[in-house]
Amino acid sequence: MIACLDLEGVLLPEIWIEFAEKSGINELKITTRDIPDYSKLMRMRLQILQSHNLKINDIQEVIKTLKPLRGAKEFLLWLKSEFEVIILSDTFYEFSGPLMKQLDYPTLFCHQLVIDSKGTIVDFHLRQEDQKTKAVKALQGLNFKVISAGDSYNDTGMLKQADSGILFCPPESVINEFPQYPIANNYRDFKALLLSSREKLLR
Ligand SMILES: [Mg+2]
Repeated sequence: MIACLDLEGVLLPEIWIEFAEKSGINELKITTRDIPDYSKLMRMRLQILQSHNLKINDIQEVIKTLKPLRGAKEFLLWLKSEFEVIILSDTFYEFSGPLMKQLDYPTLFCHQLVIDSKGTIVDFHLRQEDQKTKAVKALQGLNFKVISAGDSYNDTGMLKQADSGILFCPPESVINEFPQYPIANNYRDFKALLLSSREKLLR
């Protein structure tokens, strides 16, 4: 059995929001809740970075100062002792990289930035559209049962595809739109839900 976990909002804070706070660039606080089209949102973010002349190194310096959510590292260690674990995220390796060390380098599937020789982020490559859902489907094709967990809209595809889905600390709007999924608001309840989901799937 495999546990597929979202990254931001589950193990890490929202990287863009934290970066906006630390860098003082408020325009960067826009999220998929403001602009649901992720590619459009990313193009806007890259434009904002360019207008402030921020290079990948400047951004990584700030990201390095961020910390995983309290208890995340211990939770992940526990999870790896109980399940095979794959993190499925819509972030970019170049952003999440400096934080992965703090989580002992879990397996992470995410996207990639295109960076020119001067360190300017000029574009981005989504590994594929809707990669979370497709990854879960592919794992099921290998005869794994999959439990998926995440906090937001971009996780609902993989929650639906999985054999079992869990929401972790979701916003009110997600709770209202997706009442079919059990909710955990802390790691203790999250562990209990993961174990009970596994039990049901093994029955
Ligand atoms: Mg998230």
